[in-house]
Amino acid sequence: MSSVEAGPLLAWFSQHRRRFPWRTPFPRDPYLVLVAEVMLQQTQASRVAVLFPRFLERFPTLDLLAAASEDEVVAAFAGLGYYRRARLLHRLAREVAARGWPRSSSELVRLPGMGPYTAAAVAAFAFGELTPPVDGNLCRITARLFAVNSVLRSPTLSAQAHAFARKLVATHPTPEIFEALMELGATVCTPQQPQCAICPWATHCAAFRGGKPSAFPLPQPARTKETPTWVALWVENAAGEVLLRQLTEPPLLGLWLPPLHRGDGDPQYRAAILAQEAGLVANPSLVGSLRHHITHRRITVLLFRAAPPLGVREEANGFRWASPSALLPTSSLAEKLARLAHRSRAKGEAP
Ligand code: SF4
Repeated sequence: MSSVEAGPLLAWFSQHRRRFPWRTPFPRDPYLVLVAEVMLQQTQASRVAVLFPRFLERFPTLDLLAAASEDEVVAAFAGLGYYRRARLLHRLAREVAARGWPRSSSELVRLPGMGPYTAAAVAAFAFGELTPPVDGNLCRITARLFAVNSVLRSPTLSAQAHAFARKLVATHPTPEIFEALMELGATVCTPQQPQCAICPWATHCAAFRGGKPSAFPLPQPARTKETPTWVALWVENAAGEVLLRQLTEPPLLGLWLPPLHRGDGDPQYRAAILAQEAGLVANPSLVGSLRHHITHRRITVLLFRAAPPLGVREEANGFRWASPSALLPTSSLAEKLARLAHRSRAKGEAP
């Protein structure tokens, strides 16, 4: 690892870094670092660049975020998806508002929803700790520079990536190294078709010299794809409101959606169970199906429609009525279900 130095990386970064609203001078406000890192976990930086200022306009401080309701925080994540992040961020804000910010990565990682990468990033960018945040970008760069025959998330490669970044900050003790590594991985040493011709480390890169930069890290073994089938029930009352039920288990914990059955068995029977739980007497009829992805899982959802009830057991059983417009910002699944329900209605299907 001796010939790969931090200097060329930092020189490249000073010229080519992208300007983002969270990239302010160090040390940064820990709240802003946290919000940016949480948003960047599963959303492209260009999209976060648009939604980050909007979120901060709504919740300019951690205390205001902590004082908000969970529904308000989830609604402010509209457009980002993966709403579990919003709920964990809210819990974390409440804990920090009550006890203050821990300053080290080893303490930060104990906060709700805070993984080792985010803890190290907040500790580095806000508090100047130089423990490397190890993510997929850093692992991929390390695998290629040193031709490491490991898959991306292997403990061996993570340890090598950590050691490599530590060596870089030992000679240039600034958290900017970490941000430059993230930027190199996001814009030059990308998963497919790395731009080796413009890479500041090309002359020292073993994978590039070997002529096969994309061969590292090793491909992940093929994962067997589960395709579970969920059943959803669409019920609309005379006022145009939709029957919703709050989900009480991951992966969509806390979201209000049309009642869902996520178990196994005959779909018609499962739809009938949902109808029974909602106090409906009508037998639901199938109106169509859709595909949805939740993290890495592909799911088929069968949508049934049932006539509105004479009386629904509302809040007590976790049901409530809401206008479709209140439903849409909270989940892309809700949006797809609403579109399918309205398409089927336009075609004149039952009821
Ligand atoms: S030379 Fe190519 S493969 Fe090697 S670190 Fe740079 S971009 Fe990645």
